[in-house]
Amino acid sequence: MDYISTRNNKISVSSSFAITHGIAADGGLFMPVGIPELSADDFENLCAMTYIERAAFVLKKYLTDFSDDEIRACVEGAYTRSFENDNPAPLAALGADTRVIELWHGPTCAFKDLALQLLPYLMTTASKHVADGKKIVIPVATSGDTGKAALEGFKDVENTEIIVFYPSDGVSPAQKLQMSTQEGSNVHVFGIVGNFDDAQSGVKKIFTDESVIGKLAANGYEFSSANSINWGRLVPQIVYYISAYCDMKNEGVDLSDGFNITVPTGNFGNILAAYFAKAMGLPVNKLICASNKNKILTDFINTGKYDKNRDFYTTISPSMDILISSNLERMLYLLSGDDNYVARLQNELMTLGRYEVTDGIKNKLGEIFYGGYCDDAKTLETISSLYHDFGYLCDTHTAVAVTVANEYKVKTGDKRPMVIASTASPYKFTKSVLKALGEEVPEDEFEAIGKLSAVTGAPVPSPIANLCGKKVRFAEVIDKSAIKDAVYSSLNM
Ligand SMILES: *Cc1c(COP(=O)(O)O)cnc(C)c1O
Repeated sequence: MDYISTRNNKISVSSSFAITHGIAADGGLFMPVGIPELSADDFENLCAMTYIERAAFVLKKYLTDFSDDEIRACVEGAYTRSFENDNPAPLAALGADTRVIELWHGPTCAFKDLALQLLPYLMTTASKHVADGKKIVIPVATSGDTGKAALEGFKDVENTEIIVFYPSDGVSPAQKLQMSTQEGSNVHVFGIVGNFDDAQSGVKKIFTDESVIGKLAANGYEFSSANSINWGRLVPQIVYYISAYCDMKNEGVDLSDGFNITVPTGNFGNILAAYFAKAMGLPVNKLICASNKNKILTDFINTGKYDKNRDFYTTISPSMDILISSNLERMLYLLSGDDNYVARLQNELMTLGRYEVTDGIKNKLGEIFYGGYCDDAKTLETISSLYHDFGYLCDTHTAVAVTVANEYKVKTGDKRPMVIASTASPYKFTKSVLKALGEEVPEDEFEAIGKLSAVTGAPVPSPIANLCGKKVRFAEVIDKSAIKDAVYSSLNM
């Protein structure tokens, strides 16, 4: 399987190259040239497998320059010990035909762990294939969860340095603590004055800056990415949608008419992985894209116009406070099949802050996706009603998804089974969850965590409990224009 750039399909590289480099030289994103299709037999076999076996099976379809043994070693390394259960993506039932796929039982309590526990293995293996002997430097822009998951995945991984930039005032207290107390000898963390889009634009800019690349190379380094622009982040996410289907099937859920998937969406990575699963043959009817008040994707799906010239809101679901959804670029390529067209749209986005797709693409988009959003008040209401109706405690991002999934069911009358991606533990957003339950909210984060556990009986995940009393190692906040200098200083250059 070869990989091309979304902005130039004459660039053609191996999966190892795509994973070690992260982003194409022209600023485009790497895409497999085709999407492998699974047969009915394949699905039957997958249903009888463990999660690790399912992951190996799916990865093999895309990472064709990895040997079977290499893939096996990667998935076993990633999923054997780091998650609470053998199945890192277990299902919880909300009534007869809705399932929540809980993607937060890993070391940082967010779905990013599913990909970022695996990515270091993929990257070090891939790096041997392309064998240029350089050390890998990974600058990461995060809206809160990717940063911690990447730090935890790459800490002390040989020949890598990881440098995280998060919006100083745009993450939850638990998220900030998780990052500022990170251990490891190759980790660097900076708050920036600005929002996630500033961090992401700053990081993307140095990726393709010849002078930075040259200076790094002279010091024996090269860039890669742990953000979801890296194909190595997306392919592990395809696995859990296929796995959820198998688990439901094994449970006896009637999937003969297909099912729907709702994903709380920011950078469009998670829902794009669900689209790949669908395109591989998973019987998915509709993909429901759920946004918070930053509803740029809802508007795009409904109007075909993507326009980031709008107010930016800081919400209680901060991991979705994003106006530039990077992975949409891959979807535009899949829908148009036209690299020049994608390059033109991305250029318009960069210069004008907006673009509009053709009617043909807008219609295709509407066939595949349903877009909806909800505000903070509705998010809190849903947390409360889920808890009271089902005894189920969820975080703010998951609550956005549940709200939009319910809206979709009411608006369309579609009664197919629904899978909802639950992307973070409620204990990463404890104060909002306590507020939703109508409780007094203590000022101190750990007091709040203890209270939520006392009120609900839901166990505090050990990675959160263990944060208490940890030493803060990284407190530096920099201007968004200083990202390049922060990279240099982290590498002692
Ligand atoms: C990252 C994140 C999202 C958004 O996922 P994308 O792949 O960026 O669309 C949603 N919820 C949580 C908790 C996250 O950490």
